[in-house]
Amino acid sequence: MRPGISQCRVGSSRLLLERQGALLRRYLERTVIPFSGHYASLGDDLRRVHCVEDLRHLPFTSKRDVQDNPRDFILIPDRKVLARRPSTLLRAVLHGRKAVEESFEREFRPSFMTFTTGRSAQPLAFLYTNHDLRNLQDAGGRIMRICEAKREMKMLNMFPYAPHLAFWLSHYAGTEFGVLMVSSGGGKVAGTEGNLRVMMKLAPEVLIGMPTFIYHVLQAAISRNLRCPKLSKIILGGEKAPPGMRRKLTDLATQLGAGHVDVLMTYGFTEAKMAWPECPYPEGEASGGFHLYPDLGIIEIVDPKTGEPVGEGRPGEIVFTPLDARGTVVLRYRTGDLIDGGLVYEPCPHCGRQVPRLVGRISRTSEVKEMHLDKLKGTLVDFNELEHVLDNVDAIGAWQMELRKANDDPLELDELILHVEKLGQSDESHLIHELNDRIASVIEMHPNRIIFESAEEMRRLQGVGAQIKEQRLVDHRPKVDPTATASLSRNGNGAHP
Ligand SMILES: [Zn+2]
Repeated sequence: MRPGISQCRVGSSRLLLERQGALLRRYLERTVIPFSGHYASLGDDLRRVHCVEDLRHLPFTSKRDVQDNPRDFILIPDRKVLARRPSTLLRAVLHGRKAVEESFEREFRPSFMTFTTGRSAQPLAFLYTNHDLRNLQDAGGRIMRICEAKREMKMLNMFPYAPHLAFWLSHYAGTEFGVLMVSSGGGKVAGTEGNLRVMMKLAPEVLIGMPTFIYHVLQAAISRNLRCPKLSKIILGGEKAPPGMRRKLTDLATQLGAGHVDVLMTYGFTEAKMAWPECPYPEGEASGGFHLYPDLGIIEIVDPKTGEPVGEGRPGEIVFTPLDARGTVVLRYRTGDLIDGGLVYEPCPHCGRQVPRLVGRISRTSEVKEMHLDKLKGTLVDFNELEHVLDNVDAIGAWQMELRKANDDPLELDELILHVEKLGQSDESHLIHELNDRIASVIEMHPNRIIFESAEEMRRLQGVGAQIKEQRLVDHRPKVDPTATASLSRNGNGAHP
């Protein structure tokens, strides 16, 4: 890299960090310290935060912290503090007392909530005020612009209709951008047939939803000889989409008569109240990563073991601090998500935007940990890696990993069964050999059985139309003690024999 460019880049990222530091200081002083039960007790530590780098001196917040005392994380304004502010007095003089009171209501009164989607026993509620809804809408509009959507495009939102971030962010993205968006409610509300009907009626340019569900809908469309020639973007969220899955979605879109299709991922989580998208990028090149909104939040990447921040472009765990949230507020929130390319500040090689970006692969470890699936037959298993490997096999479509106990006896050995849908004409024994090799390369064990299933059976196994989220990993191991392993319980699909 030429020295001139490098200096300019360092300069612009420093400027950005300075600006974020100023926003952070103001947010902590004016909004968090005076009105948060939890963070008021850390007031002295928070007052020592003068720049983004100082964040490292604050303790992390974990899901457990919020679970133990959710009310403590809700901002509850103190009228006396607000009334004493010179800005409040000035606004009261200019616009009247009532107008000022109403603006505080909009800013602080909770009016909406979403829940975490983890499999832990209790989903966590995150409260939004109208101020947050405004930011949610703003973040949605940014997704549309970064994905290079056009106003005249018609969009089909296939996220499940549920109090989850993904559905509502998509909905508000549509209203903010001013585009025609139909929300089908996903598989559970409209079923595969219902989604296909809307797709045929609307002839959308853009599909929004979870990769596994969109995969099923497109596959079902092909099996009915339907066409969707206008399709030009598939915007994914809610779960990971490894390159193999994207390739399969692109292939399905081509079979439906579509031309060039951008398959773009978003990354977000309930606690951030927003998600960040990729921008379109040429085939064969690496994604520019998830484009962050530096004025709405700060992402830090830390060493998952020591908790120490790592340098630019280094792998680590994603930690989030909002800069303008109301309602439920968590600072330095540890996501449990690992990113291998880290956080970078250089302008995006594809769209040129000068915003920080998260690049590389994200592994969501929290869910696997919650389900106690990280250990199998006494061996540590990286299911995130396994997912990538299976999605990258072109000869298979939908798949599901099933965990059982031999003979359904809790004291017996764990069994790993892979259900797969074979694509094309490949030879079964050859495919079994290939799958065994690929799986053994990441988890150092072979599945006990590989079972070939029809597309229809895979839909049933994954719970398409029956579950909020399609199941790619199911645990059918009988519970020894229901109180000790409550988080293993499955939601419906996995009834124990
Ligand atoms: Zn970009």
